[in-house]
Amino acid sequence: MSDWIQSFDERFDRFVLGNAPLIRLATGFRWVEGPVWFGDAGCLLFSDIPNNAIMRWTPAVGPGEGQISTFRAPSNFSNGQARDRQGRLITCEHGTRRVTRTEYDGTITVLASHFDGKRLNSPNDVIVKSDGSIWFTDPHYGIMTNYEGFKSEQELPCQVYRIDPETLDITVIADDFGGPNGLAFSPDETKLYIAETGAMFDGSAKPRIRVFDVGADGKTLTGDQDFHRVDQGLTDGFRLDDEGNVWSSAGDGVHCIAPDGKLLGKILVPETVSNLCFGGRGKSRLFITASTSIYSIFLNRSGAL
Ligand code: MG
Repeated sequence: MSDWIQSFDERFDRFVLGNAPLIRLATGFRWVEGPVWFGDAGCLLFSDIPNNAIMRWTPAVGPGEGQISTFRAPSNFSNGQARDRQGRLITCEHGTRRVTRTEYDGTITVLASHFDGKRLNSPNDVIVKSDGSIWFTDPHYGIMTNYEGFKSEQELPCQVYRIDPETLDITVIADDFGGPNGLAFSPDETKLYIAETGAMFDGSAKPRIRVFDVGADGKTLTGDQDFHRVDQGLTDGFRLDDEGNVWSSAGDGVHCIAPDGKLLGKILVPETVSNLCFGGRGKSRLFITASTSIYSIFLNRSGAL
């Protein structure tokens, strides 16, 4: 097995390809996050939060690691990103404390900026459900310093929200987090996983991924179980594959966790991983944002839709 692969379970052995290396695609950023794949445009977009930019990586034709260009700068200190069911870009912005949608003509629609008359903190990560609803986390990390946004007063608790696809009404779906961070649905959308990183600054909450049952109405959460705690660093962003395995960021790389919570294996990355996404043909290429660089590895897995 390759130097960058650690397997703890034979299931993981068929997820990885013996001749597919972990490749650093680009480096020299400050803190990258929010990877999102645009197969139709043939590119990866990602945030460089302190540099206040959304960057674009385009694969090379032939040998080489591709090209980097600027997609949007300033980006209002963008963080997590996703695409909605119409393929439009959804972006969390620390600087403007809002969640936005980029329309096909490039104009920006604000989807959420306030709740209960108060400003959001700094939306961190976002996903879109098959019914078009948009779910996002709102910890205070982007308003604590001037490095990843603008240092300013926190007006709301660190909560998780849902934006209704028809009315754009915003509701709180979880309110007992120290610092909610990455989030993702199971492939059948019956479960929602949310990372708790409240311990990052004040030790108030045990770091872990929590898992909730999505109610029959598709809008509310019930149950609350500890799913997994990575053994190195914290889970920030993560994604699921189409068999329900959780691919989590961690201090030493990407950890693959089975639906029952068991650590199956690791892809070791030389820098602290913040987030990842599946992309490329068949959604079988993992793109990893890690501190100052982006990395990629081909897998024998496909990302969940
Ligand atoms: Mg995050």
